[in-house]
Amino acid sequence: MSTDRPTAIVTGASSGIGEATARRLSAEGFHVVLGARRLDRLEKIAAEIDGTPLELDVTDTESVAAFCEQVQDCRVLVNNAGGAAGLETVAAADEDHWRWMWETNVLGTLRLTKALLPKLVASGDGHVVTVTSIAAQEIYDGGAGYTAAKHAQSALHRTLRGEELGKPVRFTEVLPGMVETDFSLVRFDGDAERAANVYKGLVPLVAEDVADVIAFAVTRPAHVNLDQIVMKPRAQASATRAHREP
Ligand code: NAP
Repeated sequence: MSTDRPTAIVTGASSGIGEATARRLSAEGFHVVLGARRLDRLEKIAAEIDGTPLELDVTDTESVAAFCEQVQDCRVLVNNAGGAAGLETVAAADEDHWRWMWETNVLGTLRLTKALLPKLVASGDGHVVTVTSIAAQEIYDGGAGYTAAKHAQSALHRTLRGEELGKPVRFTEVLPGMVETDFSLVRFDGDAERAANVYKGLVPLVAEDVADVIAFAVTRPAHVNLDQIVMKPRAQASATRAHREP
């Protein structure tokens, strides 16, 4: 894994925003280490961008430890692995869905960031980018498991900004609205029709739009910290309000 390029680690790099970010950061000159559970997909992407594919389950402490041991250095960490499961009201909450959302989005971010902070600081210009969501700022009916997890992930990320102040490490939170990826397919347990309805009648963001913003944030000069970046499709005003063409 020896390389002259600075290392960027992207979690959840096997699809969607993570895959697009891995591709984009590679184009910006980074050696990208791609982590996710589906190693076959990572291997294919990594081969195309001269990156390093490593199996990673952010919900498993041993998997995180094994992953982090294999990386020698880290200039950029993109905490992207995560997602939503279900859309049940609180009255009908599914605890397994809640646990999955907290384990991936919140504890996953905690585990990776905690393990890699020493290497990020040692790089002399570390940068942690965490992909939360507008669900970190808003709530909506049926969304409590996801919005609670994203609020918590955001609180964890923003706390680091103060705790690490004075050290050479930057923290950027990216909060996207609707992005057409496998996100809704995962949320609705493979129900393609229900997933497609989420984006019906409007032009959603695509994964490359988010990757573009992440690449912009990490290529600013070392003294510039973009703290929070909220991005939505033009047709979306909030988590609950969008303009749809018939
Ligand atoms: P996606 O295509 O479903 O990607 C999710 C990624 O997370 C996959 O690469 C998946 O890889 C990985 N992942 C899930 N569980 C994991 C685990 N236990 N360990 C390691 N990796 C895991 O959806 P996406 O839209 O790109 O989502 C990326 C991030 O953006 C998520 O945090 C999501 O909450 C956030 N976000 C999405 C939207 C949207 O509308 N799409 C909006 C706001 C925020 P494996 O299955 O291979 O492990």
